[in-house]
Amino acid sequence: MRITEVEAIVLRMPEIDVSAADSTQDALVVRVHTDAGITGVGEVDASPTVVKAIIDAPPSHAISSGLRELLLGEDPRDIERLWDRMYQGSIFYGRRGVGVMAMSGLDIALYDILGKALEVPAYRLMGGARRSSLPAYASTLMPDTPDEAEAHAREVAAQGFGAIKFGWGPFGRDADLDEELVAAVRRGAGEGVDIMLDIGFGWRDAEHAIAMTRRLARYRPRWIEEPLPPDDVEGYARLADAVDVPIAAGEENTTRFEFAELIERGHLDVLQPDISRCGGLTEARRIAAMAHSRGRVCVPHAWSTGIISAASLHLLATLPVAPYLEYCIRPNPLNTGLVRNPVVVEGGRAAVPQAPGLGITLDEAELARFAWDA
Ligand code: MG
Repeated sequence: MRITEVEAIVLRMPEIDVSAADSTQDALVVRVHTDAGITGVGEVDASPTVVKAIIDAPPSHAISSGLRELLLGEDPRDIERLWDRMYQGSIFYGRRGVGVMAMSGLDIALYDILGKALEVPAYRLMGGARRSSLPAYASTLMPDTPDEAEAHAREVAAQGFGAIKFGWGPFGRDADLDEELVAAVRRGAGEGVDIMLDIGFGWRDAEHAIAMTRRLARYRPRWIEEPLPPDDVEGYARLADAVDVPIAAGEENTTRFEFAELIERGHLDVLQPDISRCGGLTEARRIAAMAHSRGRVCVPHAWSTGIISAASLHLLATLPVAPYLEYCIRPNPLNTGLVRNPVVVEGGRAAVPQAPGLGITLDEAELARFAWDA
């Protein structure tokens, strides 16, 4: 089997709210076509036009090429060889950051192709499933006021979710407001629901983060996520060492090398590789195995379309410890409508897709409706 074409498709809602930390407003979908008539689908949750440029770029020299050129004519079933080929062929400008993010979507598409070729679900290619469903935590943005936060928590808990994450929004503007928001979320969600707090780099330094985490501990957050900027690794270590609440981060990080640093130097408890950013399923498996071997929990970040939800479920089905799928509940059409058979959540649990490959079918009409031509 040979790869005959690689497409990078930019999708974008007509109106974008740039003030919201909501990455469901645009998307970069990849399709990898083969001479066997099988097409693999993937996505990258990064700046879509930047990623498209990295995929489409012509070769400059031996270690600086666009990714499409590195894949054309290759056998798509050689997934790890092609991961190395893309990494080596882009190492001059890639190696971390968006170079690896662009690779991620293509790597996901290769798993989709191999699963379809063998007529098995993608989890079968990664060691097999340990579970056919798992808890999904509802992932949403923190409203601006405590009253709205309480009502939103109550509404989401009533949908049957046993865990809800509130992120970004007003977190970090004012210490008293932070506590009022979290108290309101706990009231709305009730005592039996796990709540997670995503601070969106809102706390100014490690000292402040330690004080705030101690202050919020009485509301029993399951974890506190990204209270500090991603590069304040020493700050993370000081925070994680000082508090009992688990500290989570990693959604901006790529490769096993950066996750090793988050563990060894950052002392993080919960690692959150995004499969569409960290290096695809190939690298996410390595990161998850490393996390497990060092007693850390891996809960992938997933906040884009139904493609990443499915890819994340296939990985989570295989892991020894998989407490949650991150399940974005934003109502934007790219999140809810791009995949015709999206992940099913019932009673707070997400079912692992069982059809070959990722087990999803794109809605071509939605793809055409949001295709963005600069
Ligand atoms: Mg986050």
